[in-house]
Amino acid sequence: MSAGNEHESGKLSAAIDDSQRRARKAVEPGYFEYRNLRDDEFWRALPPFADVDRETFLSTKWQMQNSVYGMPKLLAFFEGWADPAFVADVEKGFHIAPMAVRVTPYLLSLINWDSPYDDPIRTQFIPLGSNFEEDHPMLTLDSLSEQVDAPVPGLTHRYADKALFLALDTCPVYCRFCTRSYAIGVDTDTVEKVSLKVNPKRWEQAFAYIESRPELEDIVISGGDAFNLPAKHLKAIGERLLNMKNIRRIRYATKGPAVMPMKLLSDPEWVEALTDVHAMGRRMHKQVAVHTHFNSANEITEITRQAINVLFEHGITVRNQSVLQTGVNNTVESMTKLVKRLGEINVHPYYVYQHDMVSGVESLRTNIATALEIELGVRGCTAGFNQPLVIVDAPGGGGKRSIFSFEHYNRETGISVYRAPAVKLGQNFLYFDPLHSLSAEVRARWQVAGEREEMIAAAIKAVGD
Ligand SMILES: *Cc1c(COP(=O)(O)O)cnc(C)c1O
Ligand code: SF4
Repeated sequence: MSAGNEHESGKLSAAIDDSQRRARKAVEPGYFEYRNLRDDEFWRALPPFADVDRETFLSTKWQMQNSVYGMPKLLAFFEGWADPAFVADVEKGFHIAPMAVRVTPYLLSLINWDSPYDDPIRTQFIPLGSNFEEDHPMLTLDSLSEQVDAPVPGLTHRYADKALFLALDTCPVYCRFCTRSYAIGVDTDTVEKVSLKVNPKRWEQAFAYIESRPELEDIVISGGDAFNLPAKHLKAIGERLLNMKNIRRIRYATKGPAVMPMKLLSDPEWVEALTDVHAMGRRMHKQVAVHTHFNSANEITEITRQAINVLFEHGITVRNQSVLQTGVNNTVESMTKLVKRLGEINVHPYYVYQHDMVSGVESLRTNIATALEIELGVRGCTAGFNQPLVIVDAPGGGGKRSIFSFEHYNRETGISVYRAPAVKLGQNFLYFDPLHSLSAEVRARWQVAGEREEMIAAAIKAVGD
């Protein structure tokens, strides 16, 4: 029967003519860049590491011993090869920065030193005096109110069923933009820190609270960084939590795989502690996952792939949380490459965070409009389950909100208003775009107390009740 007859008989034809079939357009030649993981001895290009062989470079101990922290060490590291104007700029940045500086040889070697000003890894770890932007007047040191929502020191209980346990206050590196600059790292010229040391006594207080709240079933073990937890503590914390009746899921949060992946290849004791806790969880039908923090594709090398494979072979799920940052991942192209490269090494791109309102790093922060553009441009580039959710952790303790879910966004004043009924019913949470993303006229308004109040009142009024 011909198609014509079908129509005449009132039936629709599902078939198309072969001449209508189209192959999808071929991908651009650069498309496969995300698969090209560095496998050369890249560190040798850097004079201080020129003579370091692969075995040494892959040793955790060597990475720790040769991590560069504090200004004197950084200056010594630059001695004799770095551009003096750049070094002077770093020195200037160091005195204004709220975070201490600490970087691993792994990361230092991945910086493109021919162009350090626009390198995504340099941008995250080494401050520059020439690149400071004025803080937004609405910015506070603990912008997420983690301490206010903490019933005991180092345990933030904001959401009903999950809590954030800060086990320690050190990391293998210090990120300039750390949300917890109120606690992490040593005191700096500008910030005196809250102390959250490795301390089983303090932990016991947190555990007692967790046990006392039957609704708590999911604990994030963070800090600081779980990479810095000695194996026995990592294990003891995991076991203690898994043995609680109310706990269904735990996750270890660590930037380690991004900053010192060799630990997973050369610290068998630590890896065993993690895989033991994971195996114990499986036997108990409870989830034990790792949450990590890659921000740019450049942080992922062949070493990273091998390190993540160790966890993958044990069946451990690794999820990634990135922070959206100018010069790091604030283009559709750079974020797509990161997402695809994470998929390549079996890491799940879980979240992309709008940058928190952290003091001293305004040059890194983008406006909400940029996050919206990135979400729009990246979605569809890979499997749906590997699409990160772009979120903003609402200042003042509203918790994580989908970036698109604002009740109101005024691109001129840079004010967005979010609500979080499941977290804090009836409250508005305001996020403020950085001043450098606003017009000169509006920036001037932010400097005047009365004008500030007026802009904020207008935003809240626009939302209504
Ligand atoms: C992020 C966070 C969690 C975990 O949230 P998820 O959305 O499940 O990743 C828990 N508690 C606090 C305080 C947090 O900031
Ligand atoms: S690793 Fe995490 S906690 Fe540590 S300095 Fe970086 S962002 Fe802060």
